[in-house]
Amino acid sequence: MDFSKPCRRCLLSEMDESSYKSVVEKGLSGLLPEDRAEEKLYKDRLQMCCSCDNLMSGTCLSCGCYVEIRAAINKGRCPEKKW
Ligand code: SF4
Repeated sequence: MDFSKPCRRCLLSEMDESSYKSVVEKGLSGLLPEDRAEEKLYKDRLQMCCSCDNLMSGTCLSCGCYVEIRAAINKGRCPEKKW
């Protein structure tokens, strides 16, 4: 896979293991357990992101966040109200 090009509808975890570990895992490790979304909710949210035109290389073009972090926050919301 060519990691130098932006990837539409890709999560970081699907693109680049080192970026996923350094960015997403660091962000997730800072969340308190009570602030984390349940695993099923997390996966459902990411599934919606993966079918969204705003997802580019793991980043939401609507708000600029890494969706794998935003979706993990229990009170997190999609800026386009898709979840
Ligand atoms: S957070 Fe919402 S707008 Fe952004 S990529 Fe996911 S579904 Fe699309």
